[in-house]
Amino acid sequence: MKIPVAKPYLDSQEAQYAYDTILTGWVTQGPKVAEFEEKFAAYTGTKYAVAVSNCTTALHLAMIVAGVQAGDEVICPSLSYIATANCIRYVGAKAVFAEVNTEYNLDIEDVKRKITPQTKAILIVHQIGMPADIDEFQALCKEKNLVLIEDAACAAGSAYKGKKIGSHSDLVCFSFHPRKVITTGDGGMITTSKEDYAQRLKLLRQHGMAINDRVRHESNKVLITDHLEVGYNYRMTDIQAAVGIKQLEKLDWIVAERRKIAFQYHEAFADIDCLRLPYEREGYFSNYQSYSVYLKENCPINRDELMQKLLDVGIATRSGVMTAHRETAYKGYSDIILPVSEDLCDRSIILPLYVPMPQEEISYVIEHFRKFLGK
Ligand SMILES: *Cc1c(COP(=O)(O)O)cnc(C)c1O
Repeated sequence: MKIPVAKPYLDSQEAQYAYDTILTGWVTQGPKVAEFEEKFAAYTGTKYAVAVSNCTTALHLAMIVAGVQAGDEVICPSLSYIATANCIRYVGAKAVFAEVNTEYNLDIEDVKRKITPQTKAILIVHQIGMPADIDEFQALCKEKNLVLIEDAACAAGSAYKGKKIGSHSDLVCFSFHPRKVITTGDGGMITTSKEDYAQRLKLLRQHGMAINDRVRHESNKVLITDHLEVGYNYRMTDIQAAVGIKQLEKLDWIVAERRKIAFQYHEAFADIDCLRLPYEREGYFSNYQSYSVYLKENCPINRDELMQKLLDVGIATRSGVMTAHRETAYKGYSDIILPVSEDLCDRSIILPLYVPMPQEEISYVIEHFRKFLGK
């Protein structure tokens, strides 16, 4: 048995969509990108969706549109993929790290303590698919006149208080990397209800061009474009968008299947009292992009030994979500101590979960995980 920790759910349907798009001859920033955007906006229940090359570039553009500049501070978790904090530094601002709660999401009390006159925005992360408390952060941002940005890289298909992630605030950034729940190879999306944000994002992703390629192509008059500001090449290709359209059609099914596996794990590990399992509070709906288990002090085995034992029997796992402030790229931040984040990073283990995961593999993971924990 050899069980990977994750695997994208792609088949000949996505291949066919990509094939058909290639043969049209329009392979970037064309009709498939527009169609994917429309469908993603409709899926999340928001007005606009802007496709970009990945979630890191989505976050970079979100910072610009939010008006974050050199000298500003943006509060975010350190316990996240490093792109969360990096995007703040791209615009010359300072990432201010706050602690997280037991569900790996920002702790609002610590965020409040870290607000200063320089604070411009709060970047919340729906870590491994579990929504953060959007309502509370929205209220705080309103009270303190801050911009709320959501890093929803892992959260396509997750929901909060009955509404899909993407529909709650005005700068929500998604990833379609293969490690996420749906994929376009690489890819990203920003959802917003603000038309001016959507227009600015579309400018910035394509060199600041005032007239886009589609408009020029469809016009029977010669159009010469101006470049309105210094933009970027953060385009998504139509080949990627075609794959994304098919993936989006499957998203609710993928999430339902992922949740069934997560619930099997919940049930199978409920009697192991040295574990803390993922927990959905009322109104929170996770896509279980990752199934991360925290090992308490009383576990008979430490995390790294457990990972090795699992690997020895063919089960791949990953260590918990990383902390940015302990990375070399953040050595200027090394005086920061975040005990909760560090402990969660060091004592959590991510178990295999992908669709379609054969029942015999699920049972094999359960059996060995229990065994190595003394059950
Ligand atoms: C994956 C991830 C990103 C980066 O997404 P890319 O599409 O790879 O750029 C950003 N933030 C979080 C929380 C992620 O998990």
